[in-house]
Amino acid sequence: MKFIRFSLAGEIGYGVLQDGVINPIEGDLFNNYKILEKTIDLKDVKLLPPISPGKIIAVGLNYLDHVGEVSAAASVPEEPMTFMVSNTAVIGPDDNIKLASYERRTDHECELVVVIGKECFNVSEDKALDYVFGYTCGNDVSDREIQKKDGQWTRAKSFPTYKPLGPWIETELDPTNLDIQTYVNGELKQNSNTKHMIFPVARLISFLSSFMILYPGDVIYSGTPQGVSPIKSGDVVEVKIHGIGVLKNKVI
Ligand code: MG
Repeated sequence: MKFIRFSLAGEIGYGVLQDGVINPIEGDLFNNYKILEKTIDLKDVKLLPPISPGKIIAVGLNYLDHVGEVSAAASVPEEPMTFMVSNTAVIGPDDNIKLASYERRTDHECELVVVIGKECFNVSEDKALDYVFGYTCGNDVSDREIQKKDGQWTRAKSFPTYKPLGPWIETELDPTNLDIQTYVNGELKQNSNTKHMIFPVARLISFLSSFMILYPGDVIYSGTPQGVSPIKSGDVVEVKIHGIGVLKNKVI
C-alpha cells in the first residue's frame, strides 16, 4: 500500500493512495488505524513529507562505485558508516531545495529511505525487515565543502530543505533489488540498483539497532550510488525508485 501525508484546508492527514484517489485514515499509522470510506482526489491536496521523522540516520559510502568517486583515499568500510542528520532539514514532494550557499558545491544524492515501523533494539539481520513500515525516496543533499572541512557530516547535510522525502511510503516492497536514479533537468545523473549496496537494508537495521533504539517513524537514508553532481538554482531534481515513484524538487 502507498501511505501519504497531506494537507487539505489547513488540516494535516494521513491516507492510503490508490489510482489517484486517497482514502484518509484515522488513528495511529504504526498501531491501530482505520481506513475511512470517504475519498479525496490526489490533485486536491498538497503532499507533505510522508512521515515527520523522529531520528534521521544516514549511511555513507554504501555503494562500491560511490566510494571511489568520493575520494581516491576513501576505502570500503568494514562496518556501515553511519551519522545523524537533523529532522528539521526534511521537505516534501515539490517543495524547494533552498541552497545555503551559491559559492559552495552542493550535490544531489538519491537514496532509498527506510521507515521504521516498530521499536527495536539488537535485532538480528534475518528478523530486521519485520521492523520496517515501508520505503520512500530521499535526496541526501550535501554541502561538499563543509563536509570536507568538518570531517563529520552533520552540518553539511542538515541545512533546512536538504532532506527531501517522498512522495509516499510504499509498504509492499523488496528493498534488495530496486532500480534507483537521479535526473537533473531530465538528464540522467545517477543510475544504479539497491542490489549494489555494500550493506543491505537488513544489515543496516541490525547494525544500527546494536547500539541505538529505533522507534516507529525513525528513518534511515541508506546511501547513494555513483554519479553525484552539483545542483544550482533553477535545477529540477528527480529521485526515482522503481516500485515507489518519483520525488521531485526544484532548487532555488
Ligand atoms: Mg548520502
